[in-house]
Amino acid sequence: MTQHANLAPDTLTVAAGRPRREHDSPVNPPIVLSSTFHETVAPTGSDRIYARMSNPTWDPFEEALAELEGAALPALAFASGLGAAAAALSLVPTGGVVVIPRHAYGGSVSLALAEEARGRLTVRQVDVADTEQVLGQLEGADMLWLESPTNPMLEVAETAVLADAAHAVGALVVVDNTFNTPLVCRPLDYGADVVLHSVTKYLAGHSDVVLGALVTSNPELRDQLTSYRTLHGAIAGPFEVWLALRGLRTLALRMERSQANAMELARRLAGHPAVERVRYPGLPTDPGHKRATAQLKGYGGIISIEPAGGREAADALVEAVRLWLPATSLGGVESLIERRRRQPGEPKTVPEALVRLSVGIENIEDLWADLEAALSSAPDNR
Ligand SMILES: *Cc1c(COP(=O)(O)O)cnc(C)c1O
Repeated sequence: MTQHANLAPDTLTVAAGRPRREHDSPVNPPIVLSSTFHETVAPTGSDRIYARMSNPTWDPFEEALAELEGAALPALAFASGLGAAAAALSLVPTGGVVVIPRHAYGGSVSLALAEEARGRLTVRQVDVADTEQVLGQLEGADMLWLESPTNPMLEVAETAVLADAAHAVGALVVVDNTFNTPLVCRPLDYGADVVLHSVTKYLAGHSDVVLGALVTSNPELRDQLTSYRTLHGAIAGPFEVWLALRGLRTLALRMERSQANAMELARRLAGHPAVERVRYPGLPTDPGHKRATAQLKGYGGIISIEPAGGREAADALVEAVRLWLPATSLGGVESLIERRRRQPGEPKTVPEALVRLSVGIENIEDLWADLEAALSSAPDNR
């Protein structure tokens, strides 16, 4: 793996994962569409063999993501974030215990609960912002799953404290870093053993790819995860990986803009009479503000709000916007808006009226004008 030890992260997003400098070689890695590879009688030791095991198109993306996360080994691309989550969860031994935030990504919680229902493991759901509560649940745990800020409540965990405590009881620490990206947080520096990404979101960044990845510096864990990927077959398509690397090139610019937009919108929303509550770690009044400031290099591009007037007002808001797109998912260039409890699987601890905003890179005044017009057309304010 090429290491660019002295480059800043925003330079790395551009410089990492390039083909070797040789006369006439391309500046960008090509897409390799081949299910199988030529074999020689005397193997060289780096055999590709068959494209479920490896594909040259994966390599540059896996190297670039590892460099960004500060990992010693290449990342592993998966067919989706949840495919990566399944591989990470497979590290829990049969009969083992997983501690997971009650407000972690819904698919990850559902997957853990499905494995519990099959009798493969036990799940303990916790309020990850409540350090004492998490510490109290770690006894006998095999894995601590962290997500911070959580989705969609934006609770912030004390990652390093919890990771240390998990290691003290012999548990592995998996951190879903999708919301932050490595530009905002590198969980390996806080003690994570495995970092998970839904590459679908910020890393690819254009809402045109479904892809996942895992990152670790531990060779044994990486071998187990590679073996899981090869045997379970949840592999990434070459075109998706190529698109993700293309998206990664602009990650720093997109994050910068999205976070600046989110900060300003959060401030304005907090002062709007039709908004009852704003959750955004960047606001000094937010319960997670101090921790986020200590651990993160930014406050992210996701805001959750509760409009005055409850569920009806929330639905009216989502229906009234014109520029914001009513859709699930997050992390793309376009701004998305969604009332989360619309989804039947959303935990009941998420308020009915909570609307999640994924703030894109559009002009701040256009985003605000659209939200403001929609807020003042809500039933309570007509
Ligand atoms: C979307 C998401 C996932 C799942 O990823 P997919 O690519 O949709 O499979 C996992 N974690 C978080 C935080 C997500 O936002």
